[in-house]
This record gives sequence, C-alpha cells and structure tokens, in this order.
Amino acid sequence: MTKEFITDYTLGELKEKFKELNLEPYRANQVFRWIYKKFVTDFDQMTDLSKEHRKLLKQRFAFHPLEKIEKVEAPDATKYLFKTLDGHLVETVLIKERDHLTLCVSSQIGCAVGCTFCATALDGLKRNLTTAEIIDQYIQVKQDIGEERIRNVVFMGMGEPLANYENVRKAVEIMVSPEGIDLSKRRITISTSGIIAQIKRMAQDPIMREVNLAVSLNGVTQKEREKLMPLTKTNTLEELMETLRNFPLPKYRRITLEYVLIKGVNDSPKHAEALAKLIGKDKKRFKVNLIPFNPDPNLPYERPSLSDIMKFQKVLWKYGISNFVRFSKGVEIFGACGQLRARRESIYFYS
Ligand code: SAH
Ligand code: SF4
Repeated sequence: MTKEFITDYTLGELKEKFKELNLEPYRANQVFRWIYKKFVTDFDQMTDLSKEHRKLLKQRFAFHPLEKIEKVEAPDATKYLFKTLDGHLVETVLIKERDHLTLCVSSQIGCAVGCTFCATALDGLKRNLTTAEIIDQYIQVKQDIGEERIRNVVFMGMGEPLANYENVRKAVEIMVSPEGIDLSKRRITISTSGIIAQIKRMAQDPIMREVNLAVSLNGVTQKEREKLMPLTKTNTLEELMETLRNFPLPKYRRITLEYVLIKGVNDSPKHAEALAKLIGKDKKRFKVNLIPFNPDPNLPYERPSLSDIMKFQKVLWKYGISNFVRFSKGVEIFGACGQLRARRESIYFYS
C-alpha cells in the first residue's frame, strides 16, 4: 500500500483515518499537536504514542511530499525551491518585514489563467498542488527557521488559488485551526485573478470568507482587462465588481485590488481616474496595491518610471483611495531564478 501524506488531512479527516486503524480520536489531536505546534515530522519523536502506534502510523503515513532542493537568501527575503515527487518545481518565498515574517506560498504548478504579464502563465497549467504540498511549504520553511514566527501567509506564489479551491481551503483550515498552526484568519491572504463563481463560493464558506481577499484587477475597463487577462472574457469586470461589492466582509476589513502597473499600457493618470471611478463610493471597502511590473526577458512589457508611478498614486490620493506601493532591493538577488520572480515584489505589499 502506498503511503498517504498525513498533512493532506484536516483534524476531522485525520480522526476518521485513525478510526480505520482502531486508534482513538484524541490520538489524532496528539499527532496534530506534534506536527503543527512543534513541527515534528518523525513518528519516532512523538513520545506520547506507544511503540506499536508509532509503527502502525509509520506504515500508513508519510510527511513530506516536497524535497527542498535550493535556498537562496537575500537581505529581506529567502527563496526556497522544492521538488515534487513527480519532478515539478515549486517556489516559496519567506519575506522579512520590519517586525514579522510573511510566507508566500504556491497553489498550483503553472497557471491556466494566462495573464500576458505573468511568468507563471508561460507554461500553462501542469497541475494543482495537493493540500499536503501546500502545507509542506509552510512546515519545511518553519523547520528551517526554527523559533521565529511566521505571522502572515499569502497565496501569491505560482498559480491561481481559487482554481484549486478544495485543496487550498483545506490548507487554510489547517493553518487557522486552533489545533493546527493557529494563524489568525486576518493574517492569511488569498490573491485571485477574479474567478467569480469561486469568490461567491468563498462568500458562503465560514473559513474562507474570513481570510483576506485580494483581487488582481490590472485593467480598468473590460476591454483592457481582457487584453491582459484572458480569463476575464467570461469573468467580466462588471460582474466581478458587483460580486466584490456584495462580498460579506468582516468588520474593518477591506478587499485589496491589485494593479500591476505596466509602462504605456495601464499606467496613465487617466487609468488612475478610471480606477478611482470604478471604486466610486466604496472607498471603505477597497484599497489598492500598485505593483510596478517586474520585468522578465520572456515578457513583452516594461516597468513604468518612478515619476509615472507617483503620478498614478497622486490621482488615487486625490479621490481619497488608500493605496500603497513598495519596492524592495533584496528581490534583485533572485533575478536569475525561477518563475516566482514575477511576483516577488507584489508580495512585499502585504505586511
Ligand atoms: N493567481 C493569483 C495569485 C498569484 S499572482 C493572482 O493572479 O492574483 C500574484 C500577483 O502577482 C497578482 O496580483 C499578479 O497580478 C501579480 N503579477 C503577476 N506577474 C507580475 C509581474 N510580472 N510583475 C508584477 N506583478 C505581477
Ligand atoms: Fe495565473 Fe495569477 Fe499569473 Fe494570472 S497573474 S497567470 S492568475 S498566477
């Protein structure tokens, strides 16, 4: 029998699995505690389990679906490169903010959405990551850094998290459950290109509707969005905005609208005006993250000048719209590496 990855299961699911092995449910709590409170991933170190139980569990479950193959350090971020069992590469970035750490995780290998400015889109979608592959990014980084606490998790790595809803949802459940990693729901951000049906599904989901929602807008009209993001042909701007206006937001929470600024494409003050008008009266519901395009030799765009970025920002300020741009030097060190390159800077916007 091939082994299952234990990190694929929420506590509820693990209790069911344990039942099949004639293990009492509280044993699942014990194992969960070892994994997610102490980050112990070796049954032999789980000293409150009997030898027989450890043996039984070892036969049935394994821990790491990912193999860590590279770690690149910059002053303000560390990039981890993992390999899946079927030979795909997965990137994860740990960002050192002034007073906390943020982990940027991947949810898919490649992406089917096909945004023309995104390096992850270049190879299309290979497959979804499993829950265990998402959770293992967290576990292995945590094991690497030791005591330091990871405060935030952003789903802004490779892939479209809402196109892998079930696996992402279970990973989020393990992350926020008090018996699991116990992160605050406010500290988790799902970034989506705007799959409307899945945003509606999030709105109905008691766990998913409480994490932060970031939506990649990138264009201010249907036509412009379509050019940059093919998916929006069916997920239209109008319907997206309506869905976001109706999304049941927790108190004092805002939806982030992400906007990749691309030179000569969507970066003029006119675009900023249109963005402000799109937000309209809902200034308390939305904030804007401006992401200067991160160049890539395989992508046909350029980054706007700093002065153009500032002009764009000024217009948003004029309309009283909260917005934020942030640069980071450290990411330059990753210049030559992998696909996540395109998103390294955007993740700096979440602190
Ligand atoms: N698929 C999801 C999450 C991953 S992309 C989404 O699209 O939201 C995370 C963010 O990186 C998105 O806001 C996306 O617009 C942005 N991004 C993609 N390519 C980029 C690039 N070359 N430069 C700057 N930001 C980029
Ligand atoms: Fe996929 Fe997001 Fe890249 Fe678009 S920006 S191709 S949705 S990862």
